[in-house]
Amino acid sequence: MAAIEKRSREDWQELDKDHHLHPFTDHKDLHKKRSRIITRAEGVYIYDADGNKILDGMSGLWCVNAGYGRQELVDAAAEQMQELPYYNNFFQCAHPPSIELAAMLKDLTQPQFNRVFFTGSGSESNDTIVRMVRTYWDLMGQPERHTIISRKNAYHGSTVAAASLGGMKSMHKQSGLPIPGIVHVDQPYWYGSDQSLSPEDFGIAAAQTIEAKIREVGADKVAAFIGEPIQGAGGVIVPPDTYWPEVQRICDEYGILLISDEVITGFGRLGEWFGADYYGTKPDFMPFAKGVTSGYLPLGGVFVSDRVADVLVDKAGEFAHGYTYSGHPASCAVAIANLKILQRENLVERIRDDIGPYLQKGWAELEDHPLVGNTRMVGLMGALELVKSKEPVERFDEKQGVGGIARDLFIENGVCLRASGDAIICAPPFTLSHSEADTIIEVTRKVLDQTLKVVNE
Ligand SMILES: *Cc1c(COP(=O)(O)O)cnc(C)c1O
Repeated sequence: MAAIEKRSREDWQELDKDHHLHPFTDHKDLHKKRSRIITRAEGVYIYDADGNKILDGMSGLWCVNAGYGRQELVDAAAEQMQELPYYNNFFQCAHPPSIELAAMLKDLTQPQFNRVFFTGSGSESNDTIVRMVRTYWDLMGQPERHTIISRKNAYHGSTVAAASLGGMKSMHKQSGLPIPGIVHVDQPYWYGSDQSLSPEDFGIAAAQTIEAKIREVGADKVAAFIGEPIQGAGGVIVPPDTYWPEVQRICDEYGILLISDEVITGFGRLGEWFGADYYGTKPDFMPFAKGVTSGYLPLGGVFVSDRVADVLVDKAGEFAHGYTYSGHPASCAVAIANLKILQRENLVERIRDDIGPYLQKGWAELEDHPLVGNTRMVGLMGALELVKSKEPVERFDEKQGVGGIARDLFIENGVCLRASGDAIICAPPFTLSHSEADTIIEVTRKVLDQTLKVVNE
């Protein structure tokens, strides 16, 4: 017997309204409109309870990188669940899926990464890092080095420590965050600046706000810097090329640990295996999640560099940290099968050499539309910004909710993209075909016209 009842859309919406609190949702608003019920998916398409077929231009939440309907991943989970559905990695135990995955991951990353700690999500990975970073400096005899520098508008997850690392004002406001010892500097968002500097100079200046913060806090008190190679949820903020080399220089100069949050950019989205590879940084930690299993099962983890792992192994004794589902066997089995798909189908190279450049070209051409102030896309991770006027840049009143208007029109037109303020975000599965890319561009143009009409009314 199937575990899930078959009901009408209306019945599901009613039950949902009465019993389900959703993540990142205004419930009053939701209860007026009712939720969209997604029932199945195949390839790059999701289907709702009314049978509408929608091109998923967001890969779920930046995670279904290998696309939907991969029987191999289903089989990997089922076989592992028959063999060993659960066992933990605590107390001197391990199981083949977690061991095999750890060894496989090491071969995909930079040489300083030989060890991985598993978690269940990106948020848990970042919580793990806060504890590891501080423990590392304690063990190094510098217990005053506890401050972590992050950036405004960053997204690092929703647990207390991860939301504190994040720089989302709306999140901080709702529960007295950030926790002590986490401070924030400016984001490298050239288009959002007054544009008085060239992008190159702006990138250097943005990185140097980190150096200024180090001086302000005291160089002997700063433990680490964390950043997403490209800020995702904050609106796909692509830094100028000068930014990350300068960040690396600063971290090296002050001996600060560098954390590259690869939860979105890890496993190929930028056309390199990791964002750190794309930007040429040498991080000490890389948290990951999302794309490691293409979202088929939850899994996260932290790559820990030898610099830190050697100290933890030698000096920490028992590192008193772990999750029941750290290295869940079924999740690890799915991750292995998923990474094999990425390798066998050359999906990362395909983003770099084929579908990436193809979609980027169409996306950049949208900049001629009167509503579009800026477009940007690296690999398959892009955004375009809706503005009231292009030169000088004038933005819409936030209350108008222009991004949200466009997002709803996208769904009506059969494409799912996401709005972050007035930025429209696009991050499709790696398997996107050329004709599916054409559909995204055509629908975007149509939606921009429709949005313009609504705005002018
Ligand atoms: C999604 C995300 C996270 C949080 O991951 P969860 O699995 O939702 O906890 C952390 N960092 C970045 C960059 C993300 O995009």
